[in-house]
Amino acid sequence: MVKFAFSDKYLYKLPEGHRFPIEKYELVKEQLLHEGTIEPSQLYDPGLATDDQILKVHTKDYWQSLRTLTLDKKAVRKIGLPVTEKSLNRARNSVAGTISAAHNALKSSVGVNLAGGTHHAYADHGEGFCVLNDIAISATDLINSRLVHKVLVVDLDVHQGNGTAKIFENNPDVFTFSMHGENNYPLHKEQSDLDIPLPYQCDDDTYLRLLQSHLPDLINSVQPDIIYFQAGVDVLASDKLGKLSLTRDGIKMRDQIVISSCKEQSIPLVITMGGGYSERLPDLVEAHCTTFRIAVSTYH
Ligand SMILES: [Zn+2]
Repeated sequence: MVKFAFSDKYLYKLPEGHRFPIEKYELVKEQLLHEGTIEPSQLYDPGLATDDQILKVHTKDYWQSLRTLTLDKKAVRKIGLPVTEKSLNRARNSVAGTISAAHNALKSSVGVNLAGGTHHAYADHGEGFCVLNDIAISATDLINSRLVHKVLVVDLDVHQGNGTAKIFENNPDVFTFSMHGENNYPLHKEQSDLDIPLPYQCDDDTYLRLLQSHLPDLINSVQPDIIYFQAGVDVLASDKLGKLSLTRDGIKMRDQIVISSCKEQSIPLVITMGGGYSERLPDLVEAHCTTFRIAVSTYH
């Protein structure tokens, strides 16, 4: 049975009208339970990431200003979310979700965090709704514990995984792969080990052809001990921030390609959520649920 990290802390109240759809996390969990894709016993609260785990990736200064809630206004604005005790606990909780999902993946092929994928967080600052970089912290944790030697990050959010790319820039143990809108945030792209920039309004066919022509070869050449899949759904045509034109079926095929590639080659897979800013919340929830339905049916 696939285990899903989830915590009530994943949801906290944002100021009225804030554009980050924080309620989606709770709604995705509720929908998966409601339709019977998962049972309550598959959910667990991962607790909080420790200072020690966080400091293996983030700088002492940055973490200290977060912990003491003294981050300057400009740095808070760059994150785009309030920095409060609640939001910080949420970030730590979500990092722990990805850390534990990775341990579950090593034990039983797949692990899921119903949050995470905060790939715009750098070692020394946060941005784009990302405070701490959960995938970077988790991958570092596994490598330092010598549980894995080689990690592949497959980041399919519409925005480049700039924080992750920069953190692992000179690290041969982690291969970062990002497919993202070339004209989208972040304006200044970092260099991933492999970047596939996508044109404005890129459609299903173009997207899937590119993914299919790169991913299997990449897995063969990198030979990772674990794969992190950042499954952002802001590639959807209806996304407010996406600028691509993928359909729901397109996302489904995307997820099938990634998940079945891992399964076929018996590579432990960690799935995190990621961006998604559709006009209609039900579309957004549905798009995220698709990823998890495929994971559950593939690894039942
Ligand atoms: Zn995004």
